Amino acid sequence: MTALIDLHTHSRHSDGMLSPTDLVARAAGRGVGLLALTDHDTVAGHAEAQLACDAHGIRFIPGIEASCQWRGQSIHVIGLGARPSALHAFIEDIRSRRVARIQRIGERLAHRGKLPGEEIAAAVLASSDVPTRTHVARELVARGHAKDLQGAFDRWLGRDGAGHVPVEWPELQPVLETLVGACDAVVLAHPHRYKLSAGALRQLVAEFKVIGGHALEVNVAGMSMNDRDRIASLARRNALEGSAGSDFHDPATPWTSLGRMPVWPADVQPVTARLL
Ligand code: AMP
Ligand code: MN
Ligand code: MN
Ligand code: MN
Repeated sequence: MTALIDLHTHSRHSDGMLSPTDLVARAAGRGVGLLALTDHDTVAGHAEAQLACDAHGIRFIPGIEASCQWRGQSIHVIGLGARPSALHAFIEDIRSRRVARIQRIGERLAHRGKLPGEEIAAAVLASSDVPTRTHVARELVARGHAKDLQGAFDRWLGRDGAGHVPVEWPELQPVLETLVGACDAVVLAHPHRYKLSAGALRQLVAEFKVIGGHALEVNVAGMSMNDRDRIASLARRNALEGSAGSDFHDPATPWTSLGRMPVWPADVQPVTARLL
């Protein structure tokens, strides 16, 4: 059996539940032979993940899932084969935006939601260097304000929630330029998940290609065959390669299982050639 590939995973250094060591051990147990750690806006887990991959005979790819915005919508771009020194300024910029955003979410939860928002924000900021809305959602669940993560997003953090704060990430173009200069391969993450019309998604993909992006994530755990075919045909039409990843965060969510993804679409070149 050929080894599985997983080029999109999260550890505790962003909003994943496992340490890099435990993530790698889990991946090894599932037969993953090529693994990227792609925490949101940080490279802090790379050294530990590299050591663990060496111990398990897994080929490690240092990665990052960068936050940016395009037409006011939050977009994620994955850099693979990342050189941390070239990402330092980007990482520091996002970190300060994230801290400010969590504070604003706390204020809104307090004023509009009548929750102890400042306490919630303080707990989140104390728990992570890369505080995300996932951390806020977990805190809301832990305090009994939502029954699960999805419920916390729906009721409090999503567009209609009291704690909704619009995206404040840097624009796609400069972020993409930074990643193209700092990484071996640059991938547009989960294109099927953005709430964009078909025409807007085509324009996003065309811009991504013009600025120098290499691949679309055509193979994400939980993606329907219909979405996979739609994104694969966008890749073919734009002469972009394909990438595959689970977007694993948490062993408690069985639909994101490390290394397990739908079948690779025909006629899409794998981005892995750039990494080996
Ligand atoms: P942020 O970067 O702070 O906006 O947080 C985004 C993260 O929240 C994503 O990477 C997902 O892991 C998580 N997320 C977003 N929407 C949902 C949702 N509806 N249910 C569970 N997790 C979500
Ligand atoms: Mn996440
Ligand atoms: Mn993402
Ligand atoms: Mn992700």
